[in-house]
Amino acid sequence: MKELSRIALAIEPSATMAIDTMFKQMKADGLDVIGFGAGEPDFPTPDYIKEVGIKAIQNNDTKYTPSVGTVALRKAICQRLKEDCGVEYAPAEVSVSNGAKPCVYVALRALVNPGDEVILPAPYWVSYIELIRMVGGVPVVVEATEAEHFKITPEKLAAAITPKTKCMILNNPSNPTGMMYSRKELEEIAKVCVEKDIYVISDEIYYRLAYDNEEFVSFAALGEDVKARTLLVNGVSKSYAMTGWRIGYVAAPTAISKVIGNYLGHCTGSPSSISQAAAAEALSASQETVEKMREAFEERRNYMVERMNQIEGVSCIKPEGAFYVMMNISKVFGKELFGHVIKDADDFGSMFLKYGKVAVVPGTSFGAPEFIRWSYATSMENIKAGLDRLECFLSGKE
Ligand code: PLP
Repeated sequence: MKELSRIALAIEPSATMAIDTMFKQMKADGLDVIGFGAGEPDFPTPDYIKEVGIKAIQNNDTKYTPSVGTVALRKAICQRLKEDCGVEYAPAEVSVSNGAKPCVYVALRALVNPGDEVILPAPYWVSYIELIRMVGGVPVVVEATEAEHFKITPEKLAAAITPKTKCMILNNPSNPTGMMYSRKELEEIAKVCVEKDIYVISDEIYYRLAYDNEEFVSFAALGEDVKARTLLVNGVSKSYAMTGWRIGYVAAPTAISKVIGNYLGHCTGSPSSISQAAAAEALSASQETVEKMREAFEERRNYMVERMNQIEGVSCIKPEGAFYVMMNISKVFGKELFGHVIKDADDFGSMFLKYGKVAVVPGTSFGAPEFIRWSYATSMENIKAGLDRLECFLSGKE
């Protein structure tokens, strides 16, 4: 038989799957394991949003919609972007799809020719690198160190740009680091992008989860010249606890949105009409419930960070957004635990699961091999128990 597509064959399976499979197997075997791997809010979707979804079914709102989403939803998106981020888009500049993930893909599709370079600051969200490869792009990974608070500097960005660079993917606040760029930091980055003429895919899916009263600044809000080269990706998954409804969007200048619309029209068709109705409600109703979730995340972050930094051998810097903490485990490398020398983050992850009964995500898959990602999208009770177990594990007790 003839070979499969070389592009498809080159796609790596998610490296987080191995630990996840082990975690699920242990749970199924009845073991008391705690998971900190989930990238989704543990809260249910708020009732007032679910009710609109139910009503959409009852009212036979169950047909195809325009492939870039209903006008009602795109209007609600424009209104929310204006209120929360101070950016103005027309509904024709917004394309809705089945989650933010395909929006990143289709944004890359709109920009990248085979062989074009795409700058990716590391640590990065695991899917970006594969999405870049899927469109025939070449990922150019630029490391942002813990000392730099995992944020790409304008100097490093400028040094990575070549005549082949088409765009950069910026994730703010970041998965996996939880770091958030200040207005000044973004302005410096934007200046380089404008001067060197590159686009920015700005994934702002965690924008509502910003802590310590820090201001979230959308990349597109930095001025008309910046907005003209920004493809703003966002969605309802994380802010409204709606991961399963699969609604995300990309806002971009008309010429780019047109290309994206053509692509989606042939590739995915319209997203679920029911989910679109629910998402429009989420975006246009009072944002009070969402704010309560944000407050709960902030409280959990505070506890996790303080406690982690009291544990011998590991440390973390304080994230400003999203719901992840990056734990530095470099001091544990070379240490013997349970008769096994810990060589790297993968080793740590599987040993911690086996002996500590805690599932976390090794940083290897995020381009951060000295770190472990903890998600605090889980109950305070689990967080306390998980950190107790970490303390036991690091002192060699099961
Ligand atoms: N972008 C980032 C940075 C994410 O962490 C995730 C989900 O984990 C997504 C996009 C995907 O979001 P969605 O569920 O809307 O596809």
